[in-house]
Amino acid sequence: MNFATELLHGGLLPDKATGATTLPIYQTAAYNQDSAEDLEKIFALRKPGFVYSRISNPTTATFERRISDLERGAGAVAFSSGMAAISAAIMNVVEVGDEIVSSGSLFGGTSSFLSELENFGIKIRYVTNNRVENFADLVTNKTKLFYVETIGNPKLDVADIATLAELAHENNLPLFVDSTVTTPYLVRPLELGADVVIHSISKMINGGGNSIGGIVVVGKNFRWDMEKFPKLADFDSFGTLKYLARLRAKMLTNFGGCPSPFNIFLTNVGLDTLALRMERACQNALKLATFCAENKKVEVNYPGLKNNFYHALAEKQFGNHFGTILTLKFGTKEKAFGFLNSLRFALKASNIGDARTLAIHPASTIYLHSSETEKLNAGVTDDLVRVSVGIEDISDLLDDFSKTDSTLLK
Ligand SMILES: *Cc1c(COP(=O)(O)O)cnc(C)c1O
Repeated sequence: MNFATELLHGGLLPDKATGATTLPIYQTAAYNQDSAEDLEKIFALRKPGFVYSRISNPTTATFERRISDLERGAGAVAFSSGMAAISAAIMNVVEVGDEIVSSGSLFGGTSSFLSELENFGIKIRYVTNNRVENFADLVTNKTKLFYVETIGNPKLDVADIATLAELAHENNLPLFVDSTVTTPYLVRPLELGADVVIHSISKMINGGGNSIGGIVVVGKNFRWDMEKFPKLADFDSFGTLKYLARLRAKMLTNFGGCPSPFNIFLTNVGLDTLALRMERACQNALKLATFCAENKKVEVNYPGLKNNFYHALAEKQFGNHFGTILTLKFGTKEKAFGFLNSLRFALKASNIGDARTLAIHPASTIYLHSSETEKLNAGVTDDLVRVSVGIEDISDLLDDFSKTDSTLLK
């Protein structure tokens, strides 16, 4: 079954109980069982079933299966936001004194969360430009995991997932990959050797910008050796699934970042059209980037451009798609603002992965409170505009972006 077909006929619907062709919303906190014995068995994980929606919910469970299947995972746990998913995924294994080796160009919320972890005695070692050799250099006997984004936002540097996974495994470490900007339509990191894949489902997976959510998908192969990961000891009976079992039983249940079934319903509707939207948005992004690159007054960064440093890797890894985000450098902040204010269709909003094109000046917004080093690592300069390309008619977008050639920029 090919991707777009699998999205719609992946085997989870129609609903077995009623034949409903869309995902039923189980808007309930708790679940009655036939007997006290049944409830005991479900609590002891000896019988499948639901007890309380902070721990699991049938609407959410169907969505988790759907994403896990699309990613070729062993299972998944959904959260109330991408940040809840990221923090749970990492805290599930790290302890005081541990270290994380991470790409230096991360989504702002993620780098802010990692600095917060420093307050809990966890050290983060940052690699620049996703260069594999630098990851190797930073490994110590305290390292617990490697953390990368498939395409760094807004730097747009591409991680070499297969090579990084190999290096991580040589050091008995798991590779964690945030694949929010690529979605399983462009790449399945688990198939390339990654061990944990995270998505903010608020972005392309939802597609309509109508809900916040996140998900962690876990692969089948990593062994999570007991000496290296003592926190997983209580879950040893789950074998290679012990990380997944602990993620739900401790991280979701104790920190409580569960998603609302209604938000999951909305996101699940969006998921149906993921292939169509990604195809169109990637095509639009390539056309816009090419168009802007022909204009010598603005510097364009997009992995789809042939002269881009990451082009060959992106082409190989993402099958001739290059994502929906591009950045433009105008030389000065005034010109960048002038461009933003001239746009007719692109909304000025701090989101990505919406069906609508969105544009923002990161230095004065998302990175307003970041240090100079953080901005440098993320590739954020004062003249930079980030564009998340939507699915509008390309001729209208080209018209809007022809303003990159206006007298304003001379
Ligand atoms: C938006 C985003 C997040 C955080 O997700 P929320 O749903 O906003 O909490 C994490 N990683 C990346 C790459 C993102 O774009």
